Amino acid sequence: MTNPDRSRSCNDPDLRTSVSVGYASRSRDGIHDLLDVETARATIDTVADLHDDLEDGLGVSGPAARRAITAAATAVQYTGTVISLRQARQIVANPQLAVYDNPNALLMCVYKREKALCHRGIKDTPSLDRCVAGCGNIARTDQHITKILDRADLLDRRAARVPGPLADRFRRNAARLRDLAEAHHRTRITLQDTA
Ligand code: SF4
Repeated sequence: MTNPDRSRSCNDPDLRTSVSVGYASRSRDGIHDLLDVETARATIDTVADLHDDLEDGLGVSGPAARRAITAAATAVQYTGTVISLRQARQIVANPQLAVYDNPNALLMCVYKREKALCHRGIKDTPSLDRCVAGCGNIARTDQHITKILDRADLLDRRAARVPGPLADRFRRNAARLRDLAEAHHRTRITLQDTA
């Protein structure tokens, strides 16, 4: 299983999780091992970053917010360690760690197959390029909201440069993004809220 979207980098390079395995083989098994290892490393980097941000007081909102916080706590045991191929496979198979950053949709997908709206629950991994607003797997951090507001400002600037109907569409989308941000600030939870 590969997932290039599990790609958020760890803030502190010294804390990055290392993987100690011999997967140089070009055999079919070797390729699968490599994919598991890379997926596990990216997953741990993503949730480790989230853990650090939560420790710094960051808030998270959305239907999957509490599951995102749980995943961040689960990741701590792997941070800064050298993990084996066996552990990499455990990480990939752990449903509590199925967290995917989705920078294009400006959200985090805390994946639960039965809740997924992007493919009606038929796959083990999300279709991030088909993310659906209103999915129960969505979580958004304060950082996502900063980017959402930047995007809303950009849409407003574009609206000022184009004619009527297109400008109206840009402004509607900007307003929708600001509504998202407002909902986030109204509902966000922090580590303290889950203690
Ligand atoms: S719709 Fe979006 S949040 Fe929901 S499972 Fe698919 S990618 Fe994840």
